[in-house]
Amino acid sequence: MCIFCEIIKGNIPSTKVYEDDEVLAILDISQTTYGHTLVMPKKHYDNFLLMPNDEYASLMAKAQIIANRLQNKLDCKGMNLLINTNEIAGQTVMHTHVHLIPRYGEKDTVEFKFNVNKFDLNEIANKLK
Ligand code: AMP
Ligand code: ZN
Repeated sequence: MCIFCEIIKGNIPSTKVYEDDEVLAILDISQTTYGHTLVMPKKHYDNFLLMPNDEYASLMAKAQIIANRLQNKLDCKGMNLLINTNEIAGQTVMHTHVHLIPRYGEKDTVEFKFNVNKFDLNEIANKLK
């Protein structure tokens, strides 16, 4: 059972903020900041890596529309987009979704910390060619 598929089918209640044939956006039940939104494709994919490129592009285009709405209607000063992918990266619901996390200022109860490592950049780039 996939909880987001059940939400999409209407079997589990949610607070919808956008819907069309392909995409549903709902408010995250755990509001990290005011207006924290989840944008998901209606078709189930465990994660975004598995999506056909055109469907992923369409999902992100819709996410941008909703992000602009958050910016204009909630008057946030910025936002973070986040796609947790696989358990190791914190994904808890295995149905692709984009987090839109509006940012307002110092009191935002969200924190991303990037520790810095001295990796060999050329080695990485060569692996990616
Ligand atoms: P992730 O950890 O990236 O998989 O994010 C899953 C998100 O789904 C979490 O932020 C949860 O708070 C949210 N979530 C789980 N169940 C529901 C639900 N029934 N309605 C809305 N959001 C939910
Ligand atoms: Zn699903």
